[in-house]
Amino acid sequence: MIRTRCPICSVEVEAMLYRAHREASHPDYVQWGGGKVRLSIYVILPSWVSLFVVDALFGRFLTPDFLFAGVVAYVLGTVIVAILLERRKIRDLRVAWKETHPLFEKATKT
Ligand SMILES: [Zn+2]
Repeated sequence: MIRTRCPICSVEVEAMLYRAHREASHPDYVQWGGGKVRLSIYVILPSWVSLFVVDALFGRFLTPDFLFAGVVAYVLGTVIVAILLERRKIRDLRVAWKETHPLFEKATKT
């Protein structure tokens, strides 16, 4: 059985139940994640695709690899920003969780 540790409240839950645990215990995290997914689908992915299309169409007219390097840097940049935002959000949620659960109830809620 695969067990995973919740990044917010540190409770160990089965991997299969992690989603249910998040929905039950951290609805604000689920909501934030949904917004993040929508942003990725409607803003970040199209911007990546259009950059790769621009690179494919016009890249050969410019300095070789210069535009492509820019595209790669942009993609990596958005990924890094997304990871940093995720970590900051989880840290904020963990702080909020500890404030509302000062006794650190362990495995009573799944
Ligand atoms: Zn949790």
